[in-house]
Amino acid sequence: MIGERLKKIEQQIEESCRRVGRDPSEVTLIAVSKTKPVSMMTKAYEAGARQFGENRVQELLEKIPQMPDDTMWHLIGHLQTNKVRQVIGRTRLIHSVDSVRLAREIEKESAKRGLVTEILLEVNVAREESKFGFFLEETEEALREISQLKHVRVCGLMTIAPFTADMEENRPIFRKLNQFFVDMKCKNIDNVNMAVLSMGMTGDFSVAVEEGATMVRIGTGIFSAR
Ligand SMILES: *Cc1c(COP(=O)(O)O)cnc(C)c1O
Repeated sequence: MIGERLKKIEQQIEESCRRVGRDPSEVTLIAVSKTKPVSMMTKAYEAGARQFGENRVQELLEKIPQMPDDTMWHLIGHLQTNKVRQVIGRTRLIHSVDSVRLAREIEKESAKRGLVTEILLEVNVAREESKFGFFLEETEEALREISQLKHVRVCGLMTIAPFTADMEENRPIFRKLNQFFVDMKCKNIDNVNMAVLSMGMTGDFSVAVEEGATMVRIGTGIFSAR
């Protein structure tokens, strides 16, 4: 079941790419396994998934030793500064950096360990009060500040679009973030590698891919409802 759902999502990503003339290899599927047992993750792994997304530090740390060593871990949920120390060196990418203060803490702990931690800046494009992230107009300044940190590398941007039954409603949000992403890429800021645009979840990933997503984060579409 999980393997079939994974394949179906991959096909849908390919179809979205084809519609807009993109190469499907530009899009990475993150299997969001939060709240789901390792037994289900193993099914996805056996079907080819290697990139997994978790939103809580505790759950991430519990699962890491239970999965094969080549599993790549993405932290996608809000990260408290007091938990940073525990995740440094464990993640492929932290998607949810939502303050300069948090980036500085990641810098401090990464420096102690002699590592460079790759991160994305979370942008609250729709300005929802319930969500974390920089507002779009704050993001460039934050990006420039964070780019000064030697043990942190910004690799792109992430957004969580509003929950909606009609994914077309989120198209303008994805388009806006992609425009900003391209704009920042063109500025060639030192120590910034604008390569990743993490946007699109089960309900809206087709539209996100059409609008330029390079990573989609899919939970329920693979593992069923939480
Ligand atoms: C849970 C979660 C997802 C996956 O959501 P689904 O609707 O289950 O695909 C993606 N991104 C973030 C940040 C999440 O917390």
